[in-house]
Amino acid sequence: MPTTFLCEGAEMGERPTRIPVIAVIGYKESGKTTVIEGLISRLTERGYSVATAKHIDQKGFRIDREGKDTWRHAASGANPVIAVSDVETTVIHRKGLGALNLRSLLDLIPKADLLILEGFSKIVLEDKHIGKIVCVRTLREYEDFRRRIRGEALAFCSLETLGEPILSVKENLSTLTERAIEYVERRKSILEILDSLPNLDCGKCQYRRCESLAEAIHDGRAKLDDCALIKVRPRLKTRITLNGVEVHINQFISEIVRRSVLGMISTLKGVEIRGDETLQIEISQRK
Ligand code: SF4
Repeated sequence: MPTTFLCEGAEMGERPTRIPVIAVIGYKESGKTTVIEGLISRLTERGYSVATAKHIDQKGFRIDREGKDTWRHAASGANPVIAVSDVETTVIHRKGLGALNLRSLLDLIPKADLLILEGFSKIVLEDKHIGKIVCVRTLREYEDFRRRIRGEALAFCSLETLGEPILSVKENLSTLTERAIEYVERRKSILEILDSLPNLDCGKCQYRRCESLAEAIHDGRAKLDDCALIKVRPRLKTRITLNGVEVHINQFISEIVRRSVLGMISTLKGVEIRGDETLQIEISQRK
């Protein structure tokens, strides 16, 4: 059953996205939807689950209509409003302009191997965490996008025959799909590595950001314990877990927590602290 997410606003941040995201960008009538259709059918044939989001470049656009029951639900304060028919489910999120960004958009997608965006050029061009396929109508547009794009484009393509390196959409949908798959697999692997890193961007390793270290590990240039926090873990005398997930701390914090807690415990009646004890405290909501 197809599901439509209707949201307002479009501001995108800089954190890595939770799943790979590919954006197909370009001006009106440049072939974006044709490329996306081709990608979706080829990727789903290959077993990928694909979610898409399209930026509607029309001020005040709404799928919902004034006076409809769903409109009245939302007007009374419901958010989201879900409309279910025998063939389709539409989830309408009433959010003010700018209240939604790419990361919160991803939270609306329960499960998918990748998200394909149509449009959102202004934001996508600046976001290096998004793979870009750029549809151009002329060589001038190609030059213009090449200058403005941050990071690598997966491909430039056109409905016209503009010559290398611009791929013809009609003849090269398979090449575009292969590039998309290569990108998705690389991003998936980097995001998995990132899950094993503290994700604190503390700047204490030579890579400065966790994602850069994850990329280096993926490319075989680094290993997990190049992360300064992971490297010191065996030497830490304090370990903190929150809801079963380890909270990464450095040696300094480890010592502060250890000394403060042991200091407090030592004031309790009948407790003698030597400094080499193993102490476990569990805090829970159990009644
Ligand atoms: S030291 Fe670890 S937590 Fe800090 S930026 Fe590097 S990888 Fe991330």
